[in-house]
Amino acid sequence: MGLAKRILEVGASSTLEITAKAKKMQKEGIDVVSFGAGEPDFDTPKNIKEAAKKAIDDGFTKYTPSGGIIELKEVICQKFKKDNNLEYKPSQVVVSCGAKHSINNAIQVLCQKGDEVIIPSPYWVSYPEMVRLAEATPVIVNTDRENGFKLTEKELKKAVTKRTKLLILNSPSNPTGTVYDQNELFFISEIAVDKGVYVLSDEIYEKILYDGATHISIASFNKKIYDLTIVINGVSKTYSMTGWRIGYLAGPQDVVTAIDNMQSHSTSNPVSISQKAALEALAGNQDFVAAMVNEFKKRRDYMVQRLSGIKGFSPFNPRGAFYVFCEIAKTGLNSVEVANRLLTEAKVAVVPGAGFGWDNYVRLSFATGMDIIKKGFDRIEQWARQ
Ligand code: PMP
Repeated sequence: MGLAKRILEVGASSTLEITAKAKKMQKEGIDVVSFGAGEPDFDTPKNIKEAAKKAIDDGFTKYTPSGGIIELKEVICQKFKKDNNLEYKPSQVVVSCGAKHSINNAIQVLCQKGDEVIIPSPYWVSYPEMVRLAEATPVIVNTDRENGFKLTEKELKKAVTKRTKLLILNSPSNPTGTVYDQNELFFISEIAVDKGVYVLSDEIYEKILYDGATHISIASFNKKIYDLTIVINGVSKTYSMTGWRIGYLAGPQDVVTAIDNMQSHSTSNPVSISQKAALEALAGNQDFVAAMVNEFKKRRDYMVQRLSGIKGFSPFNPRGAFYVFCEIAKTGLNSVEVANRLLTEAKVAVVPGAGFGWDNYVRLSFATGMDIIKKGFDRIEQWARQ
């Protein structure tokens, strides 16, 4: 009754909900196979953990500048230059408590009542809720599977109005694993520049790519789109560091300064020890990443193959990230029904597509060991046969 109106608009995260349900069953001693994970199952690499231990031993345990330590910001700028051909000054970077925090910071600073935010669907569950929290209006634009779940020029042009403030892009995408190519990003950048629309480019899965897919940052085309783009990234997925809570963003100076100010009055700095760990992750040996992606690729191939063999299931082959988005319309059930029945009857957890805007799909994560994936699919197959 006493809650602010804007928070009443915001629901709980459906991806967290199903994993919580599965975890509860596991705690009760039920052997649940979970394909719900939104995080790599690998341990954080040793060199990164050592850097954190050293930070503790060195007494690096106090407040830091709210937007992050300068050494980390410098390494982030080098990363942007090397990987994305983007030139940023450390003052254009804010380090936050995870990419989720960075995204929310950017949305709260840019958007307000009356603003529209274009979100291509399927979308990551938190985008529309963050937009609602800013009292702005999410404008959900459906994509087609036939077009690889990517925004087309026609659809985007139709969705832009005088009120459009921001477009949210996520490539590689959660939940579909689709990856935009250069031409597709270029037409989006041209429309954004023409209409003066900011772009939030969530590039958290940039290193997790298959089949020769390449990642391009939309901000890299020219100065005009660079001046309108907030690039989001972090160490959670690439270095299996989800619990360390380090994400970062870079963008136009006025936007980033406002974000830094807001963060200084809300969370203050991200954990000092985690910042030292992130520094080592970005500047240190990168062999871990290739090994992880190699393993993910084997699992993706296996999972897509098994899913293709199940009656009523039609998987979309992802070119990035670590999820398979799978159509289940022909089962005659909606996504919540499939997820609930799989959990209770087959003891397998999948995430309903409803939370991503697609109630005829479920999402399965392959960020789990091959033996577990095999076991899960034996169960799903048996369930489907019945
Ligand atoms: N963006 C997308 C598309 C994600 O899938 C996630 C994690 N599920 C995040 C951002 C947030 O990542 P972090 O752990 O760094 O907050």
